[in-house]
Amino acid sequence: MDFTPKTGKSAPTISSRRCEEYPHVLQFYKKPPSEDVTLHEFEDLAVQRVKVLKAVDSVGIRNIKGSKEYDEAMEKEIKKLRDVDWFVEKTSIKPADLSARRRKDHLSHFILRLAYCKSDELRRWFIQQELDLFRYRFLRENSASILDFLEKNGLDYQPIPHEDRGKMRDKLKDASFKMTSPDVLQREYYKVPFMEVLELVRGRKVYLEGGYAYVPQDELVVIVLASFREHLSHALAITSRAVPAMEEDGRLLKLLKNIHSLYLGNDYSTAKKANSAVTADMINGLSKQSFPPCMQNLHRGLKEEHHLKHWGRLQYGLFLKGIGLSLEEALRFWKSEFTKAADMDGEKFDRQHSYNIRYNYGKEGKRADYTPFSCIKIITTNAPGVGHYHGCPFRHSDADLIEQKMNKMSFPKDKQTKVMEYIKGSHYQLACREYFKAAHKTEEEIDLMHPNQYYEESQRLINGASAGETDNKTQTEPRGVKIIKVKSTNPNFDDSITGENMDELELASMETD
Ligand code: SF4
Repeated sequence: MDFTPKTGKSAPTISSRRCEEYPHVLQFYKKPPSEDVTLHEFEDLAVQRVKVLKAVDSVGIRNIKGSKEYDEAMEKEIKKLRDVDWFVEKTSIKPADLSARRRKDHLSHFILRLAYCKSDELRRWFIQQELDLFRYRFLRENSASILDFLEKNGLDYQPIPHEDRGKMRDKLKDASFKMTSPDVLQREYYKVPFMEVLELVRGRKVYLEGGYAYVPQDELVVIVLASFREHLSHALAITSRAVPAMEEDGRLLKLLKNIHSLYLGNDYSTAKKANSAVTADMINGLSKQSFPPCMQNLHRGLKEEHHLKHWGRLQYGLFLKGIGLSLEEALRFWKSEFTKAADMDGEKFDRQHSYNIRYNYGKEGKRADYTPFSCIKIITTNAPGVGHYHGCPFRHSDADLIEQKMNKMSFPKDKQTKVMEYIKGSHYQLACREYFKAAHKTEEEIDLMHPNQYYEESQRLINGASAGETDNKTQTEPRGVKIIKVKSTNPNFDDSITGENMDELELASMETD
């Protein structure tokens, strides 16, 4: 049999290497790990797999799965993921390293099962990304490797005899859009219960007879994926019943609770501190010019109510810190707005709110350097209620309001349609990216992951310099506002999941709305 890989690449014959515990590069993840894992490795592997799955998600949203563009985009992502590329195996990898790489694959998959089994939405996302990752890896393997995998996993699909294929040739040809008679004779066909390949039935890609589908070898991946999906859905249901017992361990509870909202980009924690030139007086102008819709909402709420509730203050306050508003200026900014309310004077403000602002800047309590919220955190946690202005408008507001706003801003119709389509498909960050493009009249693609990134990209376009060039330099923007650009730190994965930002939850209990 010849399973020619669709990508045209021929993977190494992994199965011929000795790797006893993990005999194949592809895994069905049937057997849970039984070894001891340190908390540090647990966290590390969780972050690594989230990174991989988020990359798979982002490639899948932008490209048609299975297309040439999709494969190329995946190749590019793999190059970017050099430090976590254990999910692809190349001939250059020493046999001695194979086991360690496959172990990471195995452990990290099971760790994320714990984190993503808790709700339908999380389960759906996890299954989809795992399926896409599996499909990509499966299609990289050569025929010998695939046969080996099928055998090792008890997927006993046998091709129909050659004579039967000859007899059914015309029916098989007619059931396919692209097959000719010689194609039919050259390929193996598998007789499979049609329920196992509903995707192919729906796509009219197979011949059906007597409750069976006749699947050409090129589509074999669909059968394997159906089996993978069934197994994973079942496993997640079982895991979700087991997780409450594990959560008695407070250390795991914190980690598992936050993995799905893990943000893996810059954390904007350098906060452009002491010598920042962003002052309270500039916020109004900057908000119109460069703030993302979520922060514009908060700014509008603050102006209208002269007050924001706790999560609004936190989301907006940390964002402003991230763009370079110093503590002194932040105190001035919040005080000037809050004291416009009839029931708030300067003294009351100092008593009720200044502690929390200083806390955000690491001057009180644990003195931690709190980082601004990423999009994923804003989108997935603390949904706003009535009278709240925090959250992400693309996720939490009525879509009609966004459409009205885009109309008011005279966004081109095609851009508006795209934004609305992305909202409908629950791709909120992509909706925001299209919004950014329309608002800045640019076709430049940005991988939007953070409100502070929106702001920085906006400033970069307005100021006409690349982000790299503006690092640590002062520049003048058109309205005469001076912005100091400070290079963001590297991703701080540990902080993201082990504590600093989780303290915000503790903070919530200290503060009143
Ligand atoms: S996608 Fe991110 S930057 Fe855009 S509005 Fe939502 S939270 Fe803000």
